Amino acid sequence: MARLYSNLKFLRYAGHIEALRHREVVAPVHVRIKPMNHCNHSCWYCAYRVDNLQLGDGIDLKDQIPAAKMHEIVDDVIAMGVQAVTFSGGGEPLLYKPLPQMVERLGRAGVRVASLTNGSNLRGAVAEAFAQWGTWIRVSTDAWDDESFARSRGIALGQFTRLLDNIRAFTARGSKCVLGVSFIIGHDNAEHVYEVCRLMKDAGVDHVKLSGAVVANDRDANNDYHRRVAATVTEQIRLAQGLSDDKFTIVNHYHELEELFDKTYTTCPFLLFLTVIGADCSVYACQDKAYTASGLLGSIRDRSFREFWFSEENRRRIFSLDPSRACLHHCISHGKNLAINEVLALDPDHACFV
Ligand code: SF4
Repeated sequence: MARLYSNLKFLRYAGHIEALRHREVVAPVHVRIKPMNHCNHSCWYCAYRVDNLQLGDGIDLKDQIPAAKMHEIVDDVIAMGVQAVTFSGGGEPLLYKPLPQMVERLGRAGVRVASLTNGSNLRGAVAEAFAQWGTWIRVSTDAWDDESFARSRGIALGQFTRLLDNIRAFTARGSKCVLGVSFIIGHDNAEHVYEVCRLMKDAGVDHVKLSGAVVANDRDANNDYHRRVAATVTEQIRLAQGLSDDKFTIVNHYHELEELFDKTYTTCPFLLFLTVIGADCSVYACQDKAYTASGLLGSIRDRSFREFWFSEENRRRIFSLDPSRACLHHCISHGKNLAINEVLALDPDHACFV
């Protein structure tokens, strides 16, 4: 099976490395758009909603991108040559009414489209749009049955059954759109990892990505939390990996959590590859800094995304954001930043001695 996840995807974009060398801004490869902050679930680990995490301390749950603004963003993304768009939260993106139309517009223009979702609304017109135009969808869950789903998300009983129905209906279409599941591991579900992977494989999903819940801003508190169940989780993952075959994969990101906190570098090269547009019509550095003052690049409420992105204001902001001071918290792009910074630090006279 071709590989879907890697920290080395940036190697395909040599022009961006050159731009970084010259401190120039080029169009991002990938834009994450958060259409709305409303969500119909209330997950215990949702970094945008719990008080003790860095993410989202400036979130307004009422915000959503007006439809006309979203059309303008889609126009810009296409005109700028952005390669991929992922819709994500904030809130639940599949509840955003204009989404099917946006997915189709992007897909027709050749932009790859994806979404993170809780899966509750993966049906009807939006499922149709992704089945036809989407590259991937990833359903996030942490439950193994109706009771556990209701408990961890503050929702009614029966929703896990409904989620599985949605997943089965989507995979039964035989669409090219890859359907994956992100399973977030904490104390309550540590003994159920294999069971959920089996369930999702039987429902026809392409892969299950396993990650540890981020429960604190600092590394030690996270590691203390996960250490208590680490032996159980390790054994569960070993069993789950036995389910892998040519149609189903386990993507294990569980043990990476320890390495994502400390930063010694003073610029963030990944800002040129991926950016985030929030439901408040502001552009943020990345998904780990959305809705935070330290992650704000600038507002596009009164100007277009394209106009802002290529502004001197944005260039200055991108090259002055210092992760060694501003990002001493979880960072999903840390491994990529380490690799890109190593490439940028190479002595050109020696780089050819490969
Ligand atoms: S270092 Fe990580 S957390 Fe900080 S801006 Fe860059 S990608 Fe975001």
